[in-house]
Amino acid sequence: MIVMIKNTHQSLRESISTQVQQELVDCTECNNCLTVCPVYDSSFSINELNTATQPDSEVPASIQRFTFACLQCGYCVPACPVHLHRDVMIQYLRYKLRLNKPWRYKRYLFIRGKPTSFLKKIMQQCFVWYKKMLYPKHARFMENTPTKAEVLFYPGCYVYSPKTMEKTIALLDHVGETYSVLGGVHHCCGMPHLLQGEFDQAEHCMNQVYQQIQRSNAHTVVTGCLECYQAVQLMFKQKNDPRRILTMVEYLMNHKHAFPTVRLDHPIALLPSCRYKDSSKAQEAAVAAVEQFSTCVHPDPKLNWCCRKWNHDVTHTNKAYHQQLLSAIGDQSKIVACDCLTCYETLNYLPSAVQVIELIDLFYNAIQGEKP
Ligand code: SF4
Ligand code: SF4
Repeated sequence: MIVMIKNTHQSLRESISTQVQQELVDCTECNNCLTVCPVYDSSFSINELNTATQPDSEVPASIQRFTFACLQCGYCVPACPVHLHRDVMIQYLRYKLRLNKPWRYKRYLFIRGKPTSFLKKIMQQCFVWYKKMLYPKHARFMENTPTKAEVLFYPGCYVYSPKTMEKTIALLDHVGETYSVLGGVHHCCGMPHLLQGEFDQAEHCMNQVYQQIQRSNAHTVVTGCLECYQAVQLMFKQKNDPRRILTMVEYLMNHKHAFPTVRLDHPIALLPSCRYKDSSKAQEAAVAAVEQFSTCVHPDPKLNWCCRKWNHDVTHTNKAYHQQLLSAIGDQSKIVACDCLTCYETLNYLPSAVQVIELIDLFYNAIQGEKP
């Protein structure tokens, strides 16, 4: 769930801290947020959690474990009767514990964002050099400065996902509007940092990306993954920027008449992204996209469909959960489509009877004359 920045003169860290302190005062300790939480194990009370979330208080071991096990799925937020953001409170706890965070968390940020050490700078350069050699076709989009264009496609770090890039560029070319591309680990959206409580690094990333968006002069920004989508939403909100931000699928649906009419004879389950909670428009576009090509199987709302990327599997339970999730999907459909690239890359490693596809595959296959 997105943070609510009210004062643009404050840093991101100060804004979140202010928000969390206020929400702790407003909390009625009804416990609803923990009741719906898929990783809460009853080893502490809501009162203990709130106390630990205060800026200067100690964080007991059980709450430390919970803090890093949290999925950042945001399922707790609509459960709150007074509209508080427990997920942001957990981000704040992660900020408090950032010097003790698990290695898996640190590893994920090692290549992305601000070069905070000489070693990180060298590693980033080696990573970029290696990837440019490996994928020369898209090298011009890696760590680039975008040219001026009406539409800016922003894949961020996913510029290094070659198959997705190949499909996306083919789709953008098929639509035919002029576009430029902004991709690379130096252009990370900052959401991975924000979700880890690294607020200063997140703000640095967002400022860097925002400068590049301004430079491109684009009136529409189209994102490859839904974390980037949420990050750009936050940037625009903070800067009062009227530019449009669309998911790739929203963008394609705006141009749906450019695609051949293809109907598939099997239903497709849509994996609802946790990031939809801030945008019903993105979710509506995703459902409409599946309906454009097939019948959309709506997920059981009682299930938490989070791909669990953002606890970096510190609990070592994500694989078993993914098997369970795909098995539950398999009862309804043999294909599950992911709108969010993070969900796709997180789920697409398991041998399964259910085929995991990207939602953009439906559009890509239509122009290639293929069926999934
Ligand atoms: S974001 Fe998800 S995992 Fe984290 S506290 Fe809320 S419901 Fe639990
Ligand atoms: S649901 Fe809201 S009010 Fe209830 S304990 Fe959680 S944060 Fe507090």
